[in-house]
Amino acid sequence: MGLETYHKKRDFSRTPEPRGKISKANRLRFVVQEHHASKLHFDFRLEMGGVLKSWSIPRGPSLDPGEKRLAVETEDHPVEYLKFEGHIPEGEYGAGEHMIWDEGSYKLLDGRDALAQLEAGRLSFELRGKKLHGAWNMVRLGRGEGQWLLMKARDRFAESGWKLELRMPDEGFEKKERKTTKSKERSAAKKSVRTYTPEKKSKGKAVAAASAFKAKTLAGDIDIKVGGDRLHLTNLDKVFWPDEGYTKGDLIRYYYEVSKYIQPYLKDRPLIMKRYPNGIGGSFFHQHDVNEAPPFVRTAEIDVEEGHAVDYIIGDNVQTLLYMANLGAIERHPWHSRVSDLNHPDWVVFDLDPSNVEFEEICDVALSTREILERLSLKSYVKTSGSRGIHVYVPLKPVHTYEEVAAFAERVAELVVEANPEIATVERSLKKRKRRAIYVDHMQNARGKSVVAPYSVRPKPGATVSAPLEWKEVERRKITIQDFTIKNMLRRIERKGELFKPVLTKGQTLDKARKLLDEMTEKPKRRSARV
Ligand code: MN
Repeated sequence: MGLETYHKKRDFSRTPEPRGKISKANRLRFVVQEHHASKLHFDFRLEMGGVLKSWSIPRGPSLDPGEKRLAVETEDHPVEYLKFEGHIPEGEYGAGEHMIWDEGSYKLLDGRDALAQLEAGRLSFELRGKKLHGAWNMVRLGRGEGQWLLMKARDRFAESGWKLELRMPDEGFEKKERKTTKSKERSAAKKSVRTYTPEKKSKGKAVAAASAFKAKTLAGDIDIKVGGDRLHLTNLDKVFWPDEGYTKGDLIRYYYEVSKYIQPYLKDRPLIMKRYPNGIGGSFFHQHDVNEAPPFVRTAEIDVEEGHAVDYIIGDNVQTLLYMANLGAIERHPWHSRVSDLNHPDWVVFDLDPSNVEFEEICDVALSTREILERLSLKSYVKTSGSRGIHVYVPLKPVHTYEEVAAFAERVAELVVEANPEIATVERSLKKRKRRAIYVDHMQNARGKSVVAPYSVRPKPGATVSAPLEWKEVERRKITIQDFTIKNMLRRIERKGELFKPVLTKGQTLDKARKLLDEMTEKPKRRSARV
């Protein structure tokens, strides 16, 4: 118990969430928060032991006693979180809109020691909130860690057929609510077919990767042969995406299958490694420095600041790609430049990061970005971020420095904001932004920064991936982030081809664009000077 995990997961210079501390008082408060992260869920928190014991409830609580709701334990939160509402920025843990759905106090129904009851796996309490009232039971499930059921007890506050009302719309959630629990169970049952569990020890025979990944289900530890090397993969049946039941094996298999498409964006580039050893629900950590990599992993010592060098993994081969996935690195974050020419990026990225905005509106701003770039004689390419927004790339010949590229990106971002004043912003401070906004993030175009590679998986529900798009798909405004996942990306590439390939092959220079940009931004001034 304590707030270590809570603090470790968050960067308080980026997130508006309270740092908080363990409280001495215990006022038996509760809160239910509606959390529009990449997938909507509800956070249920009970004040006890100086902190908020917390559960994530995918479908939210229900006043219908027939509706048992899965509640998954999450880390303890500080009591200051009872009042927290706001936008958690992209890239931070739990990124998305967070708001109070219900709050009030609770009372234990049996005994007095809430912590002991929690330990024992059974809690009965009465809620006195604005929406939730009466008696409730929570029981810990035998299977899996930290999984509970939250159920309304039958009393005068129970209401069969009760429907949860969201404070903010979420189409995916409403659709899901329409589906019956039964169809869910059926699809889960269909999944378990053939399991591949070879010898546990790495002394055993290594299987060719191509045949190992043909197995429907990957479990345990296996040794594979890939690119002439032997790779020891572990805990393949560990669930990384609890909602879908996707495992670490599914992640590694996906990277194996798309390796030929993603590899060109990683080759010769330093990679930033963020590890999720227990999947997307668990804690993560950044690993910059790599000192114990196997021989097939190339590393490079790079100065990140004066006097501070770091051993980066270089994404040279499939072996490295799979090795990282085995370490729980879900995303692939390459630098914008290559080790062979570290100071000259190969692309400019505009990261359109929305808050409280429909995806169609992000499409509009992306199209407007393309148009501005076109006026500057530059071709651009587009992909989903796989998380919330859209990335617009301008492929470059590696002839400009990071400083030049960043300065150019900033000027273009300002034009995008000028063209979309009601929604787009370059304001970095969340507090100063409007509630509904698309942040045109040009700040990523700096040395040592990175944006997820095309085809990279994201640690988001649904195992979404960053998907290259055709501009006409953006024009149609029918796509969503959730359309592209580890389950369908390969088929899409086979059907649509490698939409992002020009980013690697059609490098442009900024010379002409900068002249045009000068003209575009100076002319009105001259004119007004004449008046
Ligand atoms: Mn949450």
